[in-house]
Amino acid sequence: MKFTEPALLLFSGGQDSSTCLFWAMENFSSVRVLCFDYGQRHSKEIDIARTIAKNAGVDFQLLDTSIIANLSANSLTSGYIEMDKEKPNDSTYPNTFVAGRNLLFLTFAAVIARSHGIRHIVTGVSEADYSGYPDCRDTFILSANTSINLAMDEHFKIHTPLMWKNKAQVWQMADELGVFDLIRYQTLTCYNGIVAEGCGKCPACELRNKGLSDYLSSKTDC
Ligand code: ZN
Repeated sequence: MKFTEPALLLFSGGQDSSTCLFWAMENFSSVRVLCFDYGQRHSKEIDIARTIAKNAGVDFQLLDTSIIANLSANSLTSGYIEMDKEKPNDSTYPNTFVAGRNLLFLTFAAVIARSHGIRHIVTGVSEADYSGYPDCRDTFILSANTSINLAMDEHFKIHTPLMWKNKAQVWQMADELGVFDLIRYQTLTCYNGIVAEGCGKCPACELRNKGLSDYLSSKTDC
C-alpha cells in the first residue's frame, strides 16, 4: 500500500503509534503527527513523542484536550486513582479506559487533517490484544470513519495498520521497518512513565514485554 498523499497520525510516543509513524512514513508522501495533552499522569509522554517526531523529521502538533480529564474520573488522568491491574470480572472495563476518548481524538484529528488538506488518518488501535476497549475495535473505527465523513462532507480514510496484530507482531513490524531498536529503547508505553522496558509491572508493560519476549523467541526458533 503506497499513497501519493500525506497522512495525519494520532501519536503518543508509545510502541504502537511510533511503529505506525514509521509505517506511515513508508506509505504516504509525508506525515504529520498529532499528540493529545489530556492530562496524562506523565507529561514525559509528550516530551518523548515530540523527540521521536523531531528525530523522524515530521511535523508535530500538540493539542490541549485536558477537558477529557474533567469529564470523568479514570486512572490515566487522575493521580489519585489506582489503576486496575486486570480487567474486572463484572463486564465493565478497567479504569484505564477513558470513555469516549478515541471518538473525541478521531474527531479532533479529522478537523485538523481537514485544515491541512489531509484525508488520510492513521491510528495505532488494535483489537487483537488485551485491552478490549470498545473504541479500539474495527467496527467502531469503520463507524467513526463514516460518521466523520458525513459530519464534514469529506472523504477521510482512517487507517489502522495494527488492528489485527498482537504485540509480538507489532514488534515484528518494527523490525521489518528497520526501527526495532528505536521502538525498543526510545518509546514509552508504561503507565508509570518509565521509558523503554518500563516498570515491568503495570498492564501496559506486561503486554509490551510479553510481546517482545514472544517475538524474540520466535526469531530464535527460525
Ligand atoms: Zn509499567
